[in-house]
Amino acid sequence: PHISRLIAAGEVVSRPLDVVRELVENALDAGATRLEVEVEGGGLALVRVRDNGAGIPADSVALAPVRHATSKLEPEAAAVERVSTLGFRGEALWAAAQAGELHLVTRPAAQVGASEVHASGEAVTVRRTSAPAGTTVTVRHLFARLPARLRTQALPAVEVREITALVGRYVLHHPGLHWRLTVDGEARLTHAPADHRGAVASVYGPLSANRVLRVEAQTTGGLGVRGVVSRPELTRARRDRMHFSVNGRPILAPLELEKAVIEGFAELLPSGVAPLCVLDLAVAPEDHNPNVHPAKQVVALADLPGVAARVRAAVAEALAQHPL
Ligand code: ADP
Ligand code: MG
Repeated sequence: PHISRLIAAGEVVSRPLDVVRELVENALDAGATRLEVEVEGGGLALVRVRDNGAGIPADSVALAPVRHATSKLEPEAAAVERVSTLGFRGEALWAAAQAGELHLVTRPAAQVGASEVHASGEAVTVRRTSAPAGTTVTVRHLFARLPARLRTQALPAVEVREITALVGRYVLHHPGLHWRLTVDGEARLTHAPADHRGAVASVYGPLSANRVLRVEAQTTGGLGVRGVVSRPELTRARRDRMHFSVNGRPILAPLELEKAVIEGFAELLPSGVAPLCVLDLAVAPEDHNPNVHPAKQVVALADLPGVAARVRAAVAEALAQHPL
């Protein structure tokens, strides 16, 4: 049972990047407007996310690192099909405690004292403490108990590059929040609330932001497309600056969506180059299933061709309204 538990935990958390993603999504689910991410030693030594969100009430805090304990699902069947939160499996904190040492300090704004939880493997302790409103989750010594897993980890510099890109994607898709990423004590990325253009400036620099235009389309069918695309000058051969989210979660975009944006540019875009884009898709919960993959980066859209057509039209419309 011990080994199978560790294997299951390793499917949720297989590298520091996964811890960052899960902790950031918890902070977003908690309605935080300020998120601070800290990473040390490529995330293996420490990952910490501090937020000013709703916090966890003292009477349920002991459940936070318990497997399958989630506050986010209604008990009725089929609720998984309609989730609007980023988390819903109740496995992330549990997996982090299996794979490393979890320390959590939390206080809802209306509660007088704060709670502190230590969880490492199956050992969980809860204490009272004092702390500002919100939640700070720290995961230390990731995979120290799993030498085989530790051996297959990327070099710290590689992991840090991917963590920086991941936090950048969250900034791009949630530009209205305060963000800070600190790596080994040095600020790597900071962002104060702004629109999508401001987020492009924070992540890619002011020059990139000067060349973006707004995309905004809402259809009666409930599908919304919002964000920015770059003018063609800001294009690169690689598609690594094309970003999509579905209902707030950055996704690994299906090729169809990337193609739709490129087609929206039509002849304005030289062939073989890709634009910068940040597009947030708002899809009715019943029209997509985030439950395809543990990391939930792959979502199944019920009508991908329809969504792609909408994206293509929204991009074409934005370009037509702002002739280049
Ligand atoms: P899930 O997000 O799938 O519910 P997690 O293991 O990520 O599962 O978190 C377990 C529970 O702990 C959540 O349902 C939530 O109630 C609480 N929680 C975790 N992180 C936070 C946070 N940053 N702020 C408030 N509550 C949190
Ligand atoms: Mg979660």
